Amino acid sequence: MARKFFVGGNFKANGSIKSIQGILDNLNNAKLDPNTGMLPLPAPVVISPPSIFLLTTAEKASNGIKVAAQNVFDKPDGAWTGELTVKMLTEHNIEWVILGHSERRTIIKESSEFVADKTKAALDGGLSVILCIGETLEEREAGKTVDVCCSQLQAVVDKVSDWSKIVIAYEPVWAIGTGKVATTEQAQEAHEAIRKWLASKLSQGVADGTRILYGGSVNEKNSGELAKQPDIDGFLVGGASLKPAFVDIINANL
Ligand code: PEP
Repeated sequence: MARKFFVGGNFKANGSIKSIQGILDNLNNAKLDPNTGMLPLPAPVVISPPSIFLLTTAEKASNGIKVAAQNVFDKPDGAWTGELTVKMLTEHNIEWVILGHSERRTIIKESSEFVADKTKAALDGGLSVILCIGETLEEREAGKTVDVCCSQLQAVVDKVSDWSKIVIAYEPVWAIGTGKVATTEQAQEAHEAIRKWLASKLSQGVADGTRILYGGSVNEKNSGELAKQPDIDGFLVGGASLKPAFVDIINANL
């Protein structure tokens, strides 16, 4: 099955009612690449606002745009102060969740096992998952890029067998929010290695069908070259998803 282009926008803890309405107006009225999306995940574009804006974003998003939470808890309703459960999201038409973002792994200290537990709970409850992985600069310089990414994936492989609702986002930590984008060669090399690893651990079908997005300082200028790489199936975009030029990144293949 051909992998179709997919773009996620991670707003992180940015935005106001007014600015998010402006982003939505821009996206709802934009001419978006009709070739994005893939059944059973018909999601050309997924945007992920802070949790307080999820409902209004889900209500107002049109033009095929889906909404993702930036996190979810791995347990059902209960005494988990500050958390959102999977059911709360699905009940409100939030179909996606971003898990394992490096800011949560490094700042909030989420372990790969916890990310895997949350991935399993999200999938079991009917969400689709953008699963983020990636190495630090120190790990890259020590030649550990592929090992680190694969060990983050292994934690999920240990708990999840159906990968049809997972999109992987390879996001080198040193490239996130730094303006330092990975070269097309660095990104393609990592994506290819991750895909080979998926084939060896799961199956060739999973490797061929799973989209691997690149994330890390993607903008409207570098997205075109990155999108041409055979193993780059789209982007997870942070800072640039807040700007009008996000549309150009979504349309990088046009
Ligand atoms: C991200 O937050 O997932 C990200 C890739 O951020 P940025 O595009 O700002 O580097």
